[in-house]
Amino acid sequence: MKALVLEAYNKLVYKDFPDPVVANDEVLVKVEAVGICGSDVHGMDGSTGRRIPPLVMGHEAAGTITSLGSDVKDWKTGDRVTFDSTIYRLDDWYTRKGLYNLSDNRMVLGVSPGTYRRHGAFAEYVNVPQHILYRIPDEVNFTQASMVEPVAVAAHAVSLTPVAWNDTAVVVGCGMIGLFVIQVLRTRGCGKIIAIDLEEEKLALARNLGADVAFNPKRDNIRKEVEALTEGRGADVAFEVVGISDTVKSAIGLVRKGAMVTLVGNLSPAVEIPLQTVVTQQIRLQGSCAICGEYPAVLEMIARNTINVEAILSAEAPLSEGAEWFQRLYNKEPGLIKVVLKP
Ligand SMILES: [Zn+2]
Repeated sequence: MKALVLEAYNKLVYKDFPDPVVANDEVLVKVEAVGICGSDVHGMDGSTGRRIPPLVMGHEAAGTITSLGSDVKDWKTGDRVTFDSTIYRLDDWYTRKGLYNLSDNRMVLGVSPGTYRRHGAFAEYVNVPQHILYRIPDEVNFTQASMVEPVAVAAHAVSLTPVAWNDTAVVVGCGMIGLFVIQVLRTRGCGKIIAIDLEEEKLALARNLGADVAFNPKRDNIRKEVEALTEGRGADVAFEVVGISDTVKSAIGLVRKGAMVTLVGNLSPAVEIPLQTVVTQQIRLQGSCAICGEYPAVLEMIARNTINVEAILSAEAPLSEGAEWFQRLYNKEPGLIKVVLKP
């Protein structure tokens, strides 16, 4: 088969690659659409340590089942499917507690952090265990289905956050996940949604997708703006969707006493936090990892047009041109948010 292979750091090559070997409990999926994730773009230069070459990256995908392992009973060839990005074991202590996203020895598709190497979906075919598959509703096309994964990441973060009716929420960072957090918050009875980003294009998109107001720290005094909207208190909840010290500090600085700040972004392995603010204002910091069961709801919401994934799609391109699109994303081309590749 053809695949887009990370042969060395910063070297993506579209080339022949061995077909995946399908285990008894797996299916072979012919990939129809696969999204480029920010973690792939950041990972390809070696800076995250989670994309050690050689590797076929890609964990946001959808396609058609073309063959079945001998133990697969509930799926058939021709089924349109998408799948979780996490491959978890069913006989795990955390999985049995309903926390499969935290299970031990889990693997992420298209990732090689040193302890394992699991080739992903920037390829014509990918092998996937049956228990992480989800059926795609008829109303949802493959491109939309390839974007379920990042919506589910956003939905998981929102589900961990106690958003009361008409609460004011701040979203720091309006990349793809931040924009989906805004959309999911809109479905949850959230009140004012305040978007924060350094790029005007992203702030405009945030407004279109449900944020009431959008501020740019380069131009606005964001603490004053949020105070003006909350009778001086600060927001009831905040989502940090970048993962560096500056933005974590911003999020903590924009909430009221007793609020929760949900941490989704994790660009940096460690950040500085204003400890005395967190302690004396009794702020709760909540980490959010991946996805835990949100796929079926997200697929239904896309089918019902409650969540708009196309608004975030910047381009669709053939997989053979993948290297060029990775480079454009790596160069942070303005206005480029989401690119979906088609093998
Ligand atoms: Zn991702």
